[in-house]
Amino acid sequence: MRPIITDLMKIEITSQKEKEENWKFRDSLKKINPEKVDEMVYNLLQKIAPQIDCTACANCCKQLEVSLTEDDLDKLAKHLNLSLYQLIDQYLKEDSEAPQFVFKNQLCPFLKDNLCLVYSERPETCRSYPHLERKFFSSRLRSIINNCEVCPIVFNVFENLKDETGFCLPAF
Ligand code: SF4
Ligand code: SF4
Repeated sequence: MRPIITDLMKIEITSQKEKEENWKFRDSLKKINPEKVDEMVYNLLQKIAPQIDCTACANCCKQLEVSLTEDDLDKLAKHLNLSLYQLIDQYLKEDSEAPQFVFKNQLCPFLKDNLCLVYSERPETCRSYPHLERKFFSSRLRSIINNCEVCPIVFNVFENLKDETGFCLPAF
């Protein structure tokens, strides 16, 4: 295993530097049985995630756009003792790409001192982020490569997956 990197600046710079390598790795992953890739990702996730403290990071809550389902809206409004109209008015805007609402700003309004103020009622996408337990990792590589810059868990899993699969850059 490679040493775990949690420094967000280093992760962002390294991911940008390795963009071309990561796209080549994407092509090589497409040639491996998707179920085998899912198994390797799952095993890496079990080793890596416990070594990373999300409360020391919270980068996803600062950098990513969170889409909310109708169920998320209902739960949040109830939790905050607001009407749906008040919730939308204070915190949300319409998503430009889908018929959904997103938080007005990328920095989530419910993040305080790196902790989630609505943790028990947080949106579904927050619960499942960084989505590495989902099946068909190989079919989501575009988004995963983008997430390498944001999330230390994704970054470290992806880097170690290169070793697990024996990936090496073609020498030319
Ligand atoms: S899920 Fe990733 S980006 Fe979000 S807090 Fe945890 S390590 Fe950081
Ligand atoms: S709702 Fe909570 S978990 Fe989701 S982005 Fe905001 S602070 Fe992060």
